[in-house]
Amino acid sequence: MNTDELKSEFERIFQQPAQGCARAPGRVNLIGEFTDYNLGYVMPAALEFCTTVLYRKRDDNRVVVYSHNYPGESDSFSVGTEIVAGESQWGNYVRGCAATVQADGGVLGGLDILIASDVPQGAGLSSSAALEVSVIGALNHAFGLGYSLEKIATLGQSAENDFMGCSCGIMDQLISAKGQAGHALLIDCRSLESNAVAMPDNLALVIINSNYPRKLVDSEYNQRRQDCETAAQKLGVETLRDADLATLEQAKDSLSADEYKRAHHIITENARVLATVGALQSGDIKALAESMTSSHQSLQRDFEVTVPATDTLVEICNSVLGERGVARMTGGGFGGAIVCFCPPEDVELVKIAVAEQYPQKCGLEADIYVCKTGAGLQVESLKGWSGHGNG
Ligand code: ADP
Ligand code: MG
Repeated sequence: MNTDELKSEFERIFQQPAQGCARAPGRVNLIGEFTDYNLGYVMPAALEFCTTVLYRKRDDNRVVVYSHNYPGESDSFSVGTEIVAGESQWGNYVRGCAATVQADGGVLGGLDILIASDVPQGAGLSSSAALEVSVIGALNHAFGLGYSLEKIATLGQSAENDFMGCSCGIMDQLISAKGQAGHALLIDCRSLESNAVAMPDNLALVIINSNYPRKLVDSEYNQRRQDCETAAQKLGVETLRDADLATLEQAKDSLSADEYKRAHHIITENARVLATVGALQSGDIKALAESMTSSHQSLQRDFEVTVPATDTLVEICNSVLGERGVARMTGGGFGGAIVCFCPPEDVELVKIAVAEQYPQKCGLEADIYVCKTGAGLQVESLKGWSGHGNG
């Protein structure tokens, strides 16, 4: 749906035109998996898929939310008072954003909100971060909160951690806030500094959703995070960012088997991210393939977050592409998506191989997205915008 249609829908629902528009993209992580909450390095890219939030200030203290993606549903709650979870599963993301802003001292007023998104949900492209960043971007603009992009990302992460109960790191929200079209971002998750890395123009970016039914994802995900934290404690470092393989080997006997494997993944993955920067910039598929393949194996054997469905998709792509391309799992694991680089003329081969082999091997159908990179958070006033302040 284009912005004009969305503006009309807003007016139909709220009987008044929208005053502002915030947009934030979904993302794909190219390399650096689970390193974010260990304060290490990641290298995601923002996509053209994005979530749009139209909004208008109200005279009262109610926030009223509709989503084009959930027709016939809505949520509403009061601000200026404690915000608690409600009945609407998706509405809780908006409540979580408002609650987090308030807990941080931000003063909110009433707002009418209409959300619409073409980020596939639950497909590993982080529609939740796109939603959080666009909603907090809207709140920031509507109520003149003066947040930086880093601050918006941090608040979005807190909403997901504290309100939604998923212990994700900062990567998804930060790339959604700060992404640049045509580039990936090398992010240092400790300092939140980021450097744009040009995407190769000789390779297509293909994302394949396994559609594997994810179960118990949050508890497994949170368990991995805990393993990393206890491993860091035993290694005597603040986070695994500060550990190296020599220290890990010395301390091996004091770690549980799981702690050792999780730490081994994080330490080697951080090194792989840094090694990948040059390979990506120059479109060196051989060097890219080395780090992406070893990342996938580490996620499979050490971090244990791949499933047969994502392992199979990676195998299908790698075997059809040979040395011309490479694939690995991406995102939070336990299903979700894989990311594949290949020459544009090989995209069709990948599509055919996946369509032929994946259902037969895994009993599932995959969704394939040939993606372009997009921009990070953008917020604009629309006609009818009356400036900051109340009312
Ligand atoms: P992912 O972030 O990988 O897409 P999550 O389970 O983390 O998957 O987040 C998906 C959830 O985010 C949805 O179930 C819904 O609650 C919320 N969400 C995402 N996009 C929208 C949208 N356009 N409108 C309403 N809710 C959305
Ligand atoms: Mg998510």
